Amino acid sequence: MYKELFEQLQISSYRHNYQLAFTHDYLTSLASNYQEGDYIIADEEVCRLYPALRDSITSRQHILVEANEETKSFAQLEELIATLIDNNFTRTNRLIAIGGGVVQDISSFIASILFRGTNWLFFPTTLLTQCDSCIGSKTSINFGRYKNQLGSFFPPKAIFIDTAFLKTLPLSEKRSGLGEMLHYYLVTREEDLVMVEEQGDQALLDDDILRTFIARSLEIKKAMIEVDEFDQGPRAVFNYGHSFGHAIEAATNNAVPHGIAVAYGMDLANLLSVELGLISKALRNRIRLSLVKSFGPTPLPEIDVDLIFAALRKDKKNQGKDIKVILTRGIGNMFKTTLENTEQINQCIRGFFSNKMYEKEL
Ligand code: NAD
Repeated sequence: MYKELFEQLQISSYRHNYQLAFTHDYLTSLASNYQEGDYIIADEEVCRLYPALRDSITSRQHILVEANEETKSFAQLEELIATLIDNNFTRTNRLIAIGGGVVQDISSFIASILFRGTNWLFFPTTLLTQCDSCIGSKTSINFGRYKNQLGSFFPPKAIFIDTAFLKTLPLSEKRSGLGEMLHYYLVTREEDLVMVEEQGDQALLDDDILRTFIARSLEIKKAMIEVDEFDQGPRAVFNYGHSFGHAIEAATNNAVPHGIAVAYGMDLANLLSVELGLISKALRNRIRLSLVKSFGPTPLPEIDVDLIFAALRKDKKNQGKDIKVILTRGIGNMFKTTLENTEQINQCIRGFFSNKMYEKEL
């Protein structure tokens, strides 16, 4: 069991160093960090679920938003920026984001362009944002019908994580977060996989264990982003499971939650690694048992495999028919490679979906 749980983490970035802290009282953290003139951008659903938070926000400058992809549109951002400027928000004031990935993306994107950059603070409320996206600097908004096309690298000044928010998250979202955390563990070391094997099921039910999982995931990500913040080199290993995961999301019209699609994507990457003689069947089977803790209760809908290939070809990292993916030579030994679309590869990918290989031992 991983025990060295940190309470605070300092992350270095091209823009400024920033602080991440676990808090057990987000209301106090909010009250003590809010300064006159700051603007809160909060998820209205979270405020509905947490009346004390809503009351605290009501007495301060705030904007409530719906957490959906429409809110991340270029057009809707214009309205938010107009509200800020109309209310005399200046470059010395800060944005305070409270919510999941949608609130993070719009707040960070606005912060990155408004007055050539304003500071922002973040209270992440979903497991995905707490275990992963709150650090790493990436901001993205949608353009037209294209998702995440505009963006920048712009970290917050401080992050306050309170796992109390996760009590109201649906279990499927927690399983999705577990899938996302698993990809960090698998690219790192065996001990992290053992942690999931031994405690993965309890982590979904027990706050303290989940906090340990989140801390470990952030620790792994911190080490990488401090080396390759702009995703130009080694950070690419974090795409393990993601090229296939994104293709599953695209082919199912986002019916599969992100981290669960990534968990399926990791099993497919492992299956291809077995097919190419890179890992043993036994290792793939062993890892699959942990991936099932994430995707098990969420079966894949019928998928047109041609849509998977189409999505893989559209991935901005790929050119022509070949696809760039992360495969594995073992735990902690993931690498980027280009797969030619040979009959062998084609059959393996088709078999994964049509024969439901993710449900089977090899
Ligand atoms: P979200 O912000 O889309 O919210 C999902 C749902 O959960 C919403 O209905 C929201 O109201 C609700 N919710 C939020 N917190 C809650 C809580 N504590 N209890 C109950 N319900 C709660 O969720 P997400 O999965 O965190 O984010 C997805 C978005 O994040 C996507 O737009 C994706 O593109 C983006 N994203 C960004 C990055 C990045 O690095 N910038 C990384 C991954 C994903």
